[in-house]
Amino acid sequence: MDNLGFETRAIHAGQEPDPRTGAVIVPIYQTSTYAQDGVGGTREGDYEYSRTANPTRTALEEQLASLEGARHGLAFASGMAASDAVLRAVLRPGDHLVLGNDAYGGTFRLIDKVLAQWGIAHTVADLSNVDRVRAAVRPETRLIWCESPSNPLLGIADIAALAAIAHDAGARLVVDNTFATPYLQTPLALGADVVVHSTTKYLGGHSDVVGGAVLTGEDELREQLFFLRNAAGAVPGPFDVWLTLRGIKTLAVRMERHCDNAELVAETLAAHPKVAKVYYPGLPGHPGHEVAAKQMRRFGGMVSFRHADGERAALEMSARTSLFILAESLGGIESLIEHPGRMTHASTSGSLLQVPADLVRLSVGIEDVRDLVTDLRAALGWSQGR
Ligand code: PLP
Repeated sequence: MDNLGFETRAIHAGQEPDPRTGAVIVPIYQTSTYAQDGVGGTREGDYEYSRTANPTRTALEEQLASLEGARHGLAFASGMAASDAVLRAVLRPGDHLVLGNDAYGGTFRLIDKVLAQWGIAHTVADLSNVDRVRAAVRPETRLIWCESPSNPLLGIADIAALAAIAHDAGARLVVDNTFATPYLQTPLALGADVVVHSTTKYLGGHSDVVGGAVLTGEDELREQLFFLRNAAGAVPGPFDVWLTLRGIKTLAVRMERHCDNAELVAETLAAHPKVAKVYYPGLPGHPGHEVAAKQMRRFGGMVSFRHADGERAALEMSARTSLFILAESLGGIESLIEHPGRMTHASTSGSLLQVPADLVRLSVGIEDVRDLVTDLRAALGWSQGR
């Protein structure tokens, strides 16, 4: 299976026709428990109880592991549950981690507000600058946590360079690959040790399910994560993993269209007088464009921009579009708009994370791009008083 193309693995990895019925599609094993052959008679790999393992979940885990080029995949109840498991599997009191200065607000909150209570320290750094990352590393650093492209500023980190810094320090590099997806970027192949996903986003792809995943090539870490997940219980239900499994089958075609549309939206915004700055890794002027071109297939579906008239205009415009829906989250087929400072990244206010107050974030969907551009132009025009 590993030598087959991405689209083929998305449809077939972990998804053999059901041996008993011939069902082509993996069934939703909506069961909490499994009949056993005899007391204590279960064998390695047998199913016992669905917190521990479930066949629909196994199919998703094999599919995702194949796409990320990982030996092991573990599905979780949400992206945050996946991140929490990695942080708790790797870090102990007294340890330190380095985190990007524009990481997802929920990840920052978990590290800053929850892990800090357990004696785990962190340093926030600009991950696009390898010297700053090197300077942030301490003897007790065990983890560098990276998003590339990052949320919401679409910052680009050189994953291979960060992996080298982490490994020199005896630490691991974790990449949150939610924005890129394995279709656009495979961090493990670039030297990262662990990949995490909010499968809620592009992988599920239809804004109808919340989930998360961890991928790694390390056997021992997989055992620790498996133990933690079973001990703490943050597992997704069978229907949710089935929706994610189904969504991933069309990931490649969806991502191509997300990229096409986002490129055009970014170019349109860059030429608009009411837009002060556009953040999109595909624009040649974007810092990190060259690194992105080296490590990504294309540049993704997320675009952020600063409104030239400031925060109030950014807020008004975000509520004024008709096709772009004002909502948190991203990566679904429909276009979304939001104000990170007041919405997804509100939990970072007052911290070192710098999210400009006039920033608007777009998750560009797969609608007809002409309609999307018309919608944005109209909303930007409105805030000029026309
Ligand atoms: N990582 C990134 C980059 C995200 O954008 C999000 C959610 O927005 C998460 C992780 C958390 O995922 P979830 O909402 O599935 O818990």
